[in-house]
Amino acid sequence: MFEFDDRIAIGVSGGKDSTSLLHILAKIEREYPKASLVAITVDEGIKGYRDEALKIAAENCRKLGIEHVTISFKKLFGYTFDQMVSRLKRKADVKQTPCAFCGVMRRKALNIAARDIKADKLATAHTLDDETQTILLNIFHGDVLRIAKEKPVTDEVHPKLVRRIKPFCEVPEKETALYAYVKGIKFQNTPCPYASEALRNDARMIVDMMEEKHPGIMFTIFNSIERIRPALEELAREEGLGECIECGEPSTDRVCRTCQMRRLIG
Ligand SMILES: [Zn+2]
Repeated sequence: MFEFDDRIAIGVSGGKDSTSLLHILAKIEREYPKASLVAITVDEGIKGYRDEALKIAAENCRKLGIEHVTISFKKLFGYTFDQMVSRLKRKADVKQTPCAFCGVMRRKALNIAARDIKADKLATAHTLDDETQTILLNIFHGDVLRIAKEKPVTDEVHPKLVRRIKPFCEVPEKETALYAYVKGIKFQNTPCPYASEALRNDARMIVDMMEEKHPGIMFTIFNSIERIRPALEELAREEGLGECIECGEPSTDRVCRTCQMRRLIG
């Protein structure tokens, strides 16, 4: 996942997964004088939630001596997420949950911030649990080719798209939590007030239930997808990556999903 001289950006939300990853990468990075590490926190603008997490992220970075940058929805998209949600609530025709909007926008914000600091790689703390849930979720959504794109190490597909890596993709969430507790790492424990992605919650329930009954099944799901990934990638290759006509960011559609969402928000 890493080269000895990589400039690594890491998305740090302040939760247990990303804070544990920050500590582990900081420890490894010390051994590589030519590598550098920068933490990025996306400030969505969620009152009573993100402000606390920002402090925790900043405190961890300070302790570890890691450079920390924040990027806000307000600056990038013109509205805080709280403002976006209240605008969306007034529109009856919008079917997506707040999580769907936030996920797409946060992803974009992370990429822009990582590109700004000239990062070679962008590390996120997605765990084995997240990965297996996402696999099921993409099937539930009928968006199976997305599985090919959500791989542990993305290829260099576009000069504006920083390569993404998921160092925790084979680490169960229980272990990242255990690491944080054992190391006495401070992290945010309160869930997001908008957490309402019904389908993901169901996917999580299914995976958790299966894992409890059949330990190791998350690894089996993950490894099965790794095995058929080349075939999926072959199928997905036909969808070329261009640039959004509105914002110029990489996109498979003429207008990227973020800009489509911004139109909906109005
Ligand atoms: Zn766009």
